[in-house]
Amino acid sequence: STITNHLPTAELQALDAAHHMHPFTANDELAKKGARVITRASGIYLTDSEGEEILDAMAGLWCVNIGYGRDELADVAARQMRELPYYNSFFMTTHVPAIALANKIAELAPGDLNHVFFAGGGSEANDTNIRMVRTYWANKGKPEKSVIISRKNAYHGSTVGSGSLGGMAPMHAQGGLPIPDIHHISQPNWWAEGGDATPEAFGLACAQELEEAILELGEDRVAAFIAEPVQGAGGVIVAPDTYWPEIQRICDKYEILLIADEVICGFGRTGNWFGSQTVGIQPHIMTIAKGLSSGYAPIGGSIVCDEVAAVIGQDEFNHGYTYSGHPVAAAVALENLRIIEEEDIVGHVQQVAGPYLKEKWEGLMDHPLVGEAKIVGMMASIALTPDKASRAKFASAPGTVGYVCRDRCFGNNLIMRHVGDRMIISPPLILSPADIDEMIRRIRKSLDEAH
Ligand code: PLP
Repeated sequence: STITNHLPTAELQALDAAHHMHPFTANDELAKKGARVITRASGIYLTDSEGEEILDAMAGLWCVNIGYGRDELADVAARQMRELPYYNSFFMTTHVPAIALANKIAELAPGDLNHVFFAGGGSEANDTNIRMVRTYWANKGKPEKSVIISRKNAYHGSTVGSGSLGGMAPMHAQGGLPIPDIHHISQPNWWAEGGDATPEAFGLACAQELEEAILELGEDRVAAFIAEPVQGAGGVIVAPDTYWPEIQRICDKYEILLIADEVICGFGRTGNWFGSQTVGIQPHIMTIAKGLSSGYAPIGGSIVCDEVAAVIGQDEFNHGYTYSGHPVAAAVALENLRIIEEEDIVGHVQQVAGPYLKEKWEGLMDHPLVGEAKIVGMMASIALTPDKASRAKFASAPGTVGYVCRDRCFGNNLIMRHVGDRMIISPPLILSPADIDEMIRRIRKSLDEAH
């Protein structure tokens, strides 16, 4: 029979478990519980197959920045599919959506980040970056500069290359990661790892690990350093103020290419167009995806500075994806950027929603479970602890407090994520103060029930 929204939930769940392998999921456990079936969405709310309305405080996977249900994007996609559903730019051809989107991105990106290499999403874009920075140094006559330094607990994607760049131990444990010549240094997570140091001293020490790694590996071997301006999937880890200026100084001193992975931070999330602007760095390459199209179509890419693009352009770059700059995805992304600009969504984050959320978020510190509250723009985390003074951790395993809290959120029709000892949000950027009040009410209720 035809599978539609009209089937009973249990039937949809059984069909799902029978044939659909879920990403980042223990599928046996899911099959027992049954996945929640999402059928529709509008604004900041999802609707499930039981008709429940769920406040999506994760904007999908950190991506639906303009919120759900914007007809303009659907109209543009339909128009583009009729006019030119597919073409590529491999062999001396191009098309208007890719031209227009690359020009728009170059206009929005800071400094001389003026060139865009498109990909299907963030993982592919980071794979591009691995090959791009190594090719850059090879073209400059320094092929031995191939090591890329990244950070523990970073998330840069799920392909073999981007998963290697990432610093997630459970990912490295499966499938033979990391690939050679990737090196990981500490993440600036003061709450979990700062010990007795002040946040400022700890931030500086974490940044100086980059210099130590360069000296240990050899200056002539290091190609690039990659990092998220605010570490997202690692738990919304906001670096102490001392961190980024020191990272910039070290990259400048040793002529290391700086790659900012803006897949989450880009397109308004931190209160500026790019997270690099918020933390005050000047990268040579930015990875983009997610908010580029607000998740309405899969698209990502690398924004590349003049110098790197010029050196790459000297020879054939043997790299590209069938869907690089896909016309429908590019047209949707362009329309999404038009909406962000016309509705001043970045200004809304910076001046309205961000400051209001910050006040309410930091107010969560009065809850007995909450030891630390961190926020930048519209991405935020709280650390759960049994003892605030000693920054003790709850165990992180199914059945323990973080998991219970996440499940209670789900039960209270709120999607909030759990990472280690932290609970995190990354809601659509369009939240009004009243939406924020409602979200905080559901978070407090869930925390109370987990306590
Ligand atoms: N980089 C960062 C910082 C991300 O958060 C993600 C996804 O969560 C990626 C890269 C991978 O992007 P994608 O899932 O589009 O391949």
